[in-house]
Amino acid sequence: MAITVVGSVAFDSIETPAGRRERCLGGAATYFSLAASYFTDVRVIAVVGEDFGTKEEGVFTARNIDMRGIERASGKSFFWEGSYLENLNEAKTHATELNVFGVFEPKIPDAYRDSEFLFLANIDPVLQRRVREAMPQVKLVAGDTMNYWIKDHKPALLEVLKGLDVLLINDTETRMLAQNSNLVQAARSVLGMGPRMLVVKHGEYGATAFHRASKDGVGTKPFRAPALPLEHVVDPTGAGDSFAGGFFGYLASQPELTPATFRRAMFYGSVMGSFTVERFGTERLQELSRREIDERFHLFRELTHLD
Ligand code: AMP
Repeated sequence: MAITVVGSVAFDSIETPAGRRERCLGGAATYFSLAASYFTDVRVIAVVGEDFGTKEEGVFTARNIDMRGIERASGKSFFWEGSYLENLNEAKTHATELNVFGVFEPKIPDAYRDSEFLFLANIDPVLQRRVREAMPQVKLVAGDTMNYWIKDHKPALLEVLKGLDVLLINDTETRMLAQNSNLVQAARSVLGMGPRMLVVKHGEYGATAFHRASKDGVGTKPFRAPALPLEHVVDPTGAGDSFAGGFFGYLASQPELTPATFRRAMFYGSVMGSFTVERFGTERLQELSRREIDERFHLFRELTHLD
């Protein structure tokens, strides 16, 4: 089943203890699409500028990602600059330039209309909402956001949350959104804003899924997936989006969405995040094989299995 994703397609300048890269291909929708493309068909809605060339385009086409919804506009692509010098788990943002995203009117190609899964990757919540409203037929909607939008665009973001089944954000964002420093209380408060499931990403410590309490209290226990302890973390950029791509891509590839499918999806999310951080930018995600992915999935099983 196909996933349509809207989100940033960007150029990133990144500094980590392992070095620095200028203007490499990035963006939330880019990482998400690459990760999800190992599981299912992916269709992107975004806008890029004149600086987006055949080299960047080739990264998407090599993974058979549908780019018909990526508009080309005059001007520069979204640009983000960040560093991880003090804390590998959290980026320090130095610059965010929306550029062509500042005036973007998303158009959904007819060929995308039968998508059953929709992912609202990190971008202006106004755009996320427009795409959500234009695709009412989808079976499952998940989304992401970040401190930038929580801080200054909260009313628009709260509207987006009402239309989500699953929200994936990190622990700092969860606490910030709920204005509560206790993670469990914050998670409960975020679940009251709309989504039935909240996946809180903890960087190198894994991710926890929280569920909205049902009337009978069944199925509400949190579930934790670990992250793989890695000897070398080169660049954490895109780990969260890759987690989301692995998580949602796996769900879209399954015939049935049971609680066990969601738990396995959390592990596939961790698997894809663990690959991304091994190299700068999207380098590692571009050259994986399904065999490597499944081998790492088994490594995760061994990491957590008791018997
Ligand atoms: P993460 O998975 O959280 O590390 O996401 C990293 C990606 O998010 C980078 O490739 C950036 O281009 C993108 N990004 C950074 N800030 C924003 C923003 N305000 N809106 C949308 N995308 C962003």
